[in-house]
Amino acid sequence: MQDIPQEFKALVVDKVDGQVTSEIKTLSTDQLPDEDVLIEVAYSSLNYKDGLALGGKRPICRTFPMVAGIDLAGTVLESRSPNFKAGDQVLVNGYGLAETFWGGYSQLQRVKSEFIQKVPAAFTLQQTMAIGTAGYTAMLCVLALEDAGVTPAQGEILVTGAGGGVGSVAIALLAKLGYRVVASTGRPSLEGFFKDLGAESIIDRKELESAEGPMQRERWAGVVDVVGSTTLANAIAQTKYLGAVAICGLAAGIDLPATVMPFILRSVKLIGCDSVQAPMPIRERAWQRLAQDLNTDMLAKVTQVEPMSNVKQLASDILAGKTQGRVVIDVNA
Ligand code: NDP
Repeated sequence: MQDIPQEFKALVVDKVDGQVTSEIKTLSTDQLPDEDVLIEVAYSSLNYKDGLALGGKRPICRTFPMVAGIDLAGTVLESRSPNFKAGDQVLVNGYGLAETFWGGYSQLQRVKSEFIQKVPAAFTLQQTMAIGTAGYTAMLCVLALEDAGVTPAQGEILVTGAGGGVGSVAIALLAKLGYRVVASTGRPSLEGFFKDLGAESIIDRKELESAEGPMQRERWAGVVDVVGSTTLANAIAQTKYLGAVAICGLAAGIDLPATVMPFILRSVKLIGCDSVQAPMPIRERAWQRLAQDLNTDMLAKVTQVEPMSNVKQLASDILAGKTQGRVVIDVNA
């Protein structure tokens, strides 16, 4: 049996005099929460919500001190659950990690066994977090379009926030599945990146921000939207008859200045996709489909690996829309 370390490093978010602070601290293993599976964490990842949590901009962390990081991948060291044993490679996405439960920016973590999945055989621990919560959410959005009956023959799929984590993985997945993808971005200089991922063309996100009218020219058979606000309202207004819009994000805002017209006159479907509390069968389906449909060479193209010491800077970068693709956090680097 592997020795359990006495202490470990973690990125701890705290609230001091009303201000949210974050700092890498050395914690004693006794301080871990009393959950039934002890995981030696290899990698976590950077997600938009991590940026919000570290920036203190929204009340993501519900209790303090909180270990940040909404996802993790690692190896089981100890388990009181019959479902896991020492040596199992496992992953956790969401379920309140970094909100109400200690999260993945940590060399060790104790997690409830109900939150844990085995890493699919197709992926290494690092690839698992290259996908991370953003990539798994991209898969949820693609599944939502498929379940709504959107097929490649029906026309173009719009992906907004294309340069980010959800957007870039969604493009790779949709292109592999034979869809014609149009990437909406504020960074047209990344055209080569989007084309490499399989996008057919790009549009400047200003076009979607500034379009007007509740019913516009029908263009999209389906939409994956991470941006919200006016962008989403216009994407809905441009969606074809019987088309579907899968939404998961709020990068531009939480408002939705839309009308009922596209829904009642074009039978457009609006489908919300939540990764955090998705029941286990939905997660298993998504990870099984990622193993089947995500090209790992494409994944490598959109991924950079960074040490935990860079998370504070990266958290402010992701909120500023400056990160590209996926960022894996190596908690042991
Ligand atoms: P990223 O920051 O990696 O990507 C977001 C992208 O959106 C940016 O790269 C940028 O793309 C675009 N963008 C950023 N700011 C704006 C703006 N003000 N107006 C228009 N576009 C903007 O984040 P993720 O991909 O990790 O997450 C995207 C969204 O999805 C977030 O809101 C996140 O909270 C949400 N999310 C929700 C989940 C759920 O369970 N519902 C799970 C995971 C993520 P570009 O430069 O190409 O324009």
